[in-house]
Amino acid sequence: MRNTRQREAILRVVRRMSCHPTADEVYAEVRKEIPCISLGTVYRNLKVLADTGEVAPVGGGGTLHRYDGCTDNHYHFRCDLCGRVLDIEEPVDTGLDRRVAAQTGLAIRCHALEFHGLCKECQTGERGAE
Ligand SMILES: [Zn+2]
Ligand SMILES: [Zn+2]
Repeated sequence: MRNTRQREAILRVVRRMSCHPTADEVYAEVRKEIPCISLGTVYRNLKVLADTGEVAPVGGGGTLHRYDGCTDNHYHFRCDLCGRVLDIEEPVDTGLDRRVAAQTGLAIRCHALEFHGLCKECQTGERGAE
């Protein structure tokens, strides 16, 4: 089915791009495979994939929604200057969930953590002029 093929192509692209692409970036990449696909189709399918848990929307501020092909819980870094989102190779502290649950009585499922600052390129000014 055509819709399924498009969705699978979109999912493949998000998983392949480790940079947490925005819908526009996914669109640019998917068009190499399916030239006639529309931006609206990409948006719609990303939403469906996020709803079914196959991609994870990257939370936090900003108006651009980014998508993550890795749905295991992990920490992120967001550059204040260029907005790119990187994965942080730091084990997720599940003890924090337990401590907060014990303190508050809330049923904690997980937590999301995002570090902010300047990426390496922005620190050296390589991307600062954009
Ligand atoms: Zn940056
Ligand atoms: Zn990530």
